[in-house]
Amino acid sequence: MDRSKCIHCFKCCEECYADALVSVGEWRDTDSILKEILENKGYFDQSKGGVTFSGGECMLQPDALTELLKGCQAAGVHTAVDTAGNVPWESFEQVLPYTDLFLYDIKAMDTDVHKACTGVENGRILENFTRLVDRGENIFVRYPYIPGMNDDQVEKIAEFLHRWQQIEAELLPYHKLGNSKYRALEAQNVFEGTVPLKDEVEMLKKKYGFQ
Ligand code: SF4
Repeated sequence: MDRSKCIHCFKCCEECYADALVSVGEWRDTDSILKEILENKGYFDQSKGGVTFSGGECMLQPDALTELLKGCQAAGVHTAVDTAGNVPWESFEQVLPYTDLFLYDIKAMDTDVHKACTGVENGRILENFTRLVDRGENIFVRYPYIPGMNDDQVEKIAEFLHRWQQIEAELLPYHKLGNSKYRALEAQNVFEGTVPLKDEVEMLKKKYGFQ
């Protein structure tokens, strides 16, 4: 069918007796999400855990995100925001007071490499990151390491992060767990590539100070 004409009513998924078509995700309002989160408050307290808002990119919905963060914080639930950082600084300012931790993706220091990987340049991402660090926000960096895409960025990213002693960073080696989703979406996996060897990953972590 012509996918551009789909209005996302998901009736085809309800009708498909073989489950060949399934819908993933659902429309929710912030009240119902918050209610569900707070039903698990006992578990969060016991496990010393909390809530991580991710996506996609949760920072693309700053109003809804702020409401949810505010509700969690008021109830004493730890809040983390998982972001690629490519949003206006004003969105960060909005969520900052209610965020205990930012999980921040840094994929490349060279903007042309970043553009080849993601379709966008990295100026705003690095600027937002620097502003967050300078404000003393609690940040944990994640570097997805993809051989053939951004593996040549490891040293540059490590050098950039070493400006700040307090910043911890994790190197996330490429894996193929997402391939079934690409197949389901009949989409091309632009990251089809080699999974790095465990020894290589351990060596890089040790050499450049990643977790
Ligand atoms: S029935 Fe399925 S394909 Fe048709 S508009 Fe609804 S979701 Fe899209």
